[in-house]
Amino acid sequence: MADYKLLIDGELCEAASGDTFATYNPGKGEKIADLPKAGKEDAERAIKAARKAFDEGPWPKMSGAERAGKLREIAALINANAGVLAELESLDSGGTIRKSSLADVPGAAGAFEWFATCAETEADRVQLPPAVFPQSDNYALYEPLGVCTGVIPWNFPFIMLSWKIAPALAAGNVSVIKPASLTSITALKLAELITEAGILPPGVLQVLSGPGGTVGEELASNPMVDKVAFTGSTEVGRRIMQLASGTVKPVTLELGGKSANIVLDDADLHQASSAVLWGTFFHGGQVCESGTRALVHKKIYDEFMNMLVEKAGKLVIGDQLDFTTDLGPLVDRSQAETAERYVKLGRDEVGDPVCGGDYPAALAEGLDRQAFFQPTIFSNVPNSAKIAQEEIFGPVLCVIPFESDDEAVAIANDSIYGLAGGVQSSNLERAQAVAARMRTGTVWINDYHMISPDKPFGGYKQSGIGRELGTYGYNIYRQVKHVHVNPETSGFANHLQYSALNGDLIA
Ligand code: NAP
Ligand code: MG
Repeated sequence: MADYKLLIDGELCEAASGDTFATYNPGKGEKIADLPKAGKEDAERAIKAARKAFDEGPWPKMSGAERAGKLREIAALINANAGVLAELESLDSGGTIRKSSLADVPGAAGAFEWFATCAETEADRVQLPPAVFPQSDNYALYEPLGVCTGVIPWNFPFIMLSWKIAPALAAGNVSVIKPASLTSITALKLAELITEAGILPPGVLQVLSGPGGTVGEELASNPMVDKVAFTGSTEVGRRIMQLASGTVKPVTLELGGKSANIVLDDADLHQASSAVLWGTFFHGGQVCESGTRALVHKKIYDEFMNMLVEKAGKLVIGDQLDFTTDLGPLVDRSQAETAERYVKLGRDEVGDPVCGGDYPAALAEGLDRQAFFQPTIFSNVPNSAKIAQEEIFGPVLCVIPFESDDEAVAIANDSIYGLAGGVQSSNLERAQAVAARMRTGTVWINDYHMISPDKPFGGYKQSGIGRELGTYGYNIYRQVKHVHVNPETSGFANHLQYSALNGDLIA
């Protein structure tokens, strides 16, 4: 028996096979719980239940205001269980308790609140101007897409869950979600809370923990699915697109990044070094939009590096459940090994890092050293180096010198990715001119990582397709239908006019 259950068709249940898999606290290498391991059969049943709920159930027919009320109930439920959810999130993912309690859990509640507001305020019928056919009445109806599936990664499990469920449900769709296998607990916990509170009609939300290769592939390819939203690696994103193409499903993809944080020569160096430190080492660099390339003007390079390295040396590595910890474990040992592998490569490419570069020397008893990694900084990295081009997803920063704003922009844009970036400067006009030239979905000026549910987020280039959040992120969950009404019930005024233009006759 699993410790948590799948949610399918309004019921909490085991996997059809009865299979389970264990999930771990990476900090201590200890098992936390056994989770149900859904397979293809469960995924098919979940999609069928969702299809029925959409085609026959009350959810898509409810008013936006009614659905908003339900979403606000979910937000309140998250807030009421914030402590438990934050602790589970932190235990399961390795993210610090500071992150989970101050960012992840309130951020997820905030996403449900925001999309509730969208459901209330975004019109579902918009009058269109009578431009070409003046005697007609034309309007657009905004309608839900249908069955929307979501496949999410392990780095921000709870917030990513909210970003997939909240907009889909707000717009009147039904949802089937697969969390990442390394971090499925909070998704299953939320499913349990929502089900026990009886907030949603059956079939509106399904949550399936299970392998990407089976459950994820089904969610992306099943012909009954109308839309797929995916967050994760660029490699799996390509696979999702291929699978979705079989029945021409729209996809939203939020993929990898190698974002540039540009420090201009007029920046306040204390602030800029903190922005670079936070931009890179928050959550051990396991953030898709991390500023893992710091581009620093040559004029201030040495002074900036001294400050940065000094600050990096003060970061506290330790148990993720301790509120004073800055860097907890990475999501598992293999992620730390990836960091180690890239550091080895970096030593060959550019020489030794100026700090870090290894597993921590010593940690409190009971912690698994091999799941942690020191904050690591490589200096004077050419942008062509592999460590500057490939996503590492660990606490490894490349610092790259530049001499002009033009050069900084060129380096920033010399990447297959385009998710985000930063500009640190005391001249806001100059910073905004640089920001305008960066080919990325977000730019933070004198800041970093500021994502809010009411602002669009997503990538250029191979960082993805579409935008989540904001009203943009609401409208990608809606179809638009044009209705043309000829008010003459016994005459084709417009049609005849059109036909006359074409020289055709209407009998
Ligand atoms: P991943 O390997 O791409 O996995 C993401 C999700 O896809 C997981 O739920 C995974 O399931 C599932 N999956 C794996 N293979 C699949 C397949 N063949 N078909 C369908 N689903 C499949 O990524 P990750 O390692 O979890 O996360 C790290 C990556 O995500 C990084 O590249 C990072 O940049 C990116 N990311 C991007 C954003 C963004 O907003 N742009 C946010 C967070 C993360 P299993 O867990 O069962 O393998
Ligand atoms: Mg875990």
